Amino acid sequence: MTSQTEQLWARAKKVSPGGVHSPVRAFKGVGGVPSFIKSAQGPYLFDEEGNRLVDFCMSWGPLLLGHQPPTVKAAVAEALDRGWTFGTCESYSLELAELITQNIPWVEKIRFVNSGTEAVMSALRVARAATGRNKILKFTGCYHGHVDSMLVKAGSGLADMPSPDSAGVSPSVAGDTLVCPLDDEAALQTVFDCHGDDIAAVILEPIPANNGLLPQRKDWLKNLEALTRKNNSLLIFDEVISGFRMAFGGMAERLGIAPDMVTYGKVIGGGFPVGGYGGKAELMDWVAPTGPVYQAGTLSANPVAMVAGLETLRLLKDEAPYAALEQKGVELENMLKEICQQQGREDIQLQREGSLFWSVIHGQGNSPKMVRNPDDIPAVHAESYKDLYHRIRHHGVYLAPSAYEVGFLSTVHEPEHLQMLATALASSLQEISAGA
Ligand SMILES: *Cc1c(COP(=O)(O)O)cnc(C)c1O
Repeated sequence: MTSQTEQLWARAKKVSPGGVHSPVRAFKGVGGVPSFIKSAQGPYLFDEEGNRLVDFCMSWGPLLLGHQPPTVKAAVAEALDRGWTFGTCESYSLELAELITQNIPWVEKIRFVNSGTEAVMSALRVARAATGRNKILKFTGCYHGHVDSMLVKAGSGLADMPSPDSAGVSPSVAGDTLVCPLDDEAALQTVFDCHGDDIAAVILEPIPANNGLLPQRKDWLKNLEALTRKNNSLLIFDEVISGFRMAFGGMAERLGIAPDMVTYGKVIGGGFPVGGYGGKAELMDWVAPTGPVYQAGTLSANPVAMVAGLETLRLLKDEAPYAALEQKGVELENMLKEICQQQGREDIQLQREGSLFWSVIHGQGNSPKMVRNPDDIPAVHAESYKDLYHRIRHHGVYLAPSAYEVGFLSTVHEPEHLQMLATALASSLQEISAGA
């Protein structure tokens, strides 16, 4: 007999590539059949089989206030009653833009789009126009959405031509992308020595969180900032995950580094499809209709999505839950570390920054080690995560179905929910050591 989920999965695979509309949802990284979710509330997901799972994936980051926060839900319902798209000016996007520009000094103007990918694509276009340069420098292990020029990673060594990371990306597009390893001053210096006068912008996730969580040294980030300034390149912070999550002003605020441009997504739409790119007015005024950089969108600044973003950001501004989120992060980190120690699994290294967490499995008997660069993630990690993932899900906790995706804490995760993850981990490690 096949389960309800297996039936849905078989149908989905017939009508969509891999059965999904975004690749990681297919569970390729962990194997098995994905959960089909029927509903969600607060910190919980409810699947088609009637299971309740504590959610630490939170739709990959947007739901900093959990599923269905009442104020956001009420505002969205009210907005729906007034119509859901007008295709002309309205006050929702104005209020959201004012809230952001009044509270984030390095964002003097902002343009809303529909996704993080669009935000990045548009910001890069502005950077090229404003500097009259062509090359963009990115870092291995940083994800910037699926725009062609960002689907590139380094070949073997800096001297190589960058090669596309996806089929269908033209080598000539890839050729304008320079790629550098994270946490490596010398490599950065070399790239600037060779290409400094043709680098339009350097783009990075100031806390890389798409290839595991790879906390960067502040010195390294400061040095990067200095090099971009010295070479008249623009500094773009991709804060699609970190914006409004690590602080209202994102990592830029935490680090005290003001980027020239910043890209937002995820939290900015409160779970609806919104992205945004912003920065100094003189840069943003390159964008049409003020300037010659074309960028448009039929459903951009969709009123319902804008209201969800506005209510979410208002709440974050008024209640400033950041210290509490940090505290939750610390608690969870300590709980999980203690479990690993008790179970004799000191090889599991917990990495955390604010409300983002990730563990890297170095393999039994090995010592834990801080990982700042994707090359330092051991091969055993992905293999070990598969087994651990399914055991933890079986114990009622939903983590991202990939060894390279981080965990997301939200304001609705209470101590009892952190405890549920800790207990699920303890039981899973016990089963593993018992060979069960
Ligand atoms: C998720 C993400 C993107 C892409 O955003 P989408 O809305 O999925 O297009 C870009 N950059 C970073 C840092 C992200 O985490």
